[in-house]
Amino acid sequence: MPIDNTLFVLGYGVVDVKYPKKVRTYCPRCNEHTLHSVSIYKHGKRRSLSEGERRYRRKKEGYGSQRKPEQKRFAKVTKKVLLKLRCTKCGYTVYRLGIRLKKIELVDVVR
Ligand SMILES: [Zn+2]
Repeated sequence: MPIDNTLFVLGYGVVDVKYPKKVRTYCPRCNEHTLHSVSIYKHGKRRSLSEGERRYRRKKEGYGSQRKPEQKRFAKVTKKVLLKLRCTKCGYTVYRLGIRLKKIELVDVVR
């Protein structure tokens, strides 16, 4: 099924990309092409009581103790998009590192 890759090739250098919500692609566990549901990876919530977070808070206390300089300007205006493909047959998740995009949109493809 070409739709999955062509969209990405078309999307190279393009700021706004539409990607189908369902994609038929290879699943390593089923060892065949199956239907995958697509979602975009988002990092989880930070645990405020984790050791690293507590250490960071301790270090940040007091005057002039910003650990790293605050980033004011960014060199890049885009972000890399990580797609999460979940096999609808066995539930196995494959991550697919995308290219730099300003915006990605998941759309229903009617065929
Ligand atoms: Zn599978």
